Amino acid sequence: MSSVAALSTPSAGARLEPAMIETRDLRDDDVRIDVKFAGICHSDIHQVREEWGSATFPMVPGHEIAGVVSEVGPAVTRYAVGDRVGVGCMVDSCGECEFCKDGEEQFCTKGSVATYNGRGYDGEETKGGYSRQVVVSERFAVRIPDALELDVAAPLLCAGITTYTPLKRWNAGPGRKVAVIGLGGLGHMAVKIAVAMGAEVTVLSRTLAKREDGLALGASSYVATEDPDAMAGLVKSFDVIINTVSANLSMDTYLRLLRPLGALVNVGLPTDSWTVRPGSLVGGSRVLAGSNIGGIPATQEMLDFCAENGIGAQIETIGADEVNEAYDRVVAGDVRYRFVIDTATIAVG
Ligand code: NAP
Ligand code: ZN
Repeated sequence: MSSVAALSTPSAGARLEPAMIETRDLRDDDVRIDVKFAGICHSDIHQVREEWGSATFPMVPGHEIAGVVSEVGPAVTRYAVGDRVGVGCMVDSCGECEFCKDGEEQFCTKGSVATYNGRGYDGEETKGGYSRQVVVSERFAVRIPDALELDVAAPLLCAGITTYTPLKRWNAGPGRKVAVIGLGGLGHMAVKIAVAMGAEVTVLSRTLAKREDGLALGASSYVATEDPDAMAGLVKSFDVIINTVSANLSMDTYLRLLRPLGALVNVGLPTDSWTVRPGSLVGGSRVLAGSNIGGIPATQEMLDFCAENGIGAQIETIGADEVNEAYDRVVAGDVRYRFVIDTATIAVG
């Protein structure tokens, strides 16, 4: 085992503070990664604040990890020391079930292992990317193309893949109208990716405060959801709506913005239940759907797509001592559009 500096929280809702943690000795197929940047996803905040139910503490969050391979186990074939790699939300899966064989490891029947706030098949608690180093199987590392800087690539490992997956599945592309609800970390990536796929994109944000940014990201229109007249003008407009909001919204309100056969896909993960009027779905044979991150092959495909299209996240880089304040700013909607921790600033003592 070796000790590395990380940002850890001792209990639900407590502050993240520097602490030394142990990384495991390299297994045959492991790579050690010197983490350079770690994105702050709203899911980190949900878990640190125990909003998704019982969590494991002390917790080192972080599942938007970009870094450089610094050591490889003897059976590693895909990566060499010096390679630029990323790690997202999973670090293991059975590798044998139908979903793993299909490259949909997030649906592993044995249960995929979460990058942090999870437990490996060896029984050890997992620790995430707010850390100077992580050790993972090479099967769960993806290659970051040279065209992407590591800081703007880090958020792609969750925000990128989580939005790429439903946009691809629901055929965002030329001739298709896509709306994105919420212009935060996931939302701004959804806009960039849908535009690059060729779709016509509308941002649905609470106010017009971020309108200029939304249009600069490539959206062709931008509507304040707090404006009832503007919302009324959007009825039956969209083929696909991606809901990235971290709080509960009225599904009926947004389902009526779908054209017949359209899909409202939820990626935001608040915990309260919805009620939905059956007529909101049946009327236009509409689909109310969800989407959970994406598999490892799709994550590599997404990174290659982003590199080819010159897409990185729009980030604000912060030091380790700014992380707790950054959490409050994310919850307050005061982030444009992803905080990324420069992990070189994590030091103990
Ligand atoms: P974020 O950066 O905080 O963005 C969320 C956006 O939602 C905000 O920018 C804001 O957009 C809008 N919003 C926030 N509070 C709202 C409220 N009370 N009412 C209406 N709109 C509100 O968060 P994120 O990192 O993108 O994550 C978004 C959600 O996706 C979280 O719940 C996260 O856990 C979840 N998530 C899911 C997956 C998955 O696999 N499905 C993966 C990653 C994250 P405007 O200011 O533009 O209105
Ligand atoms: Zn995430």
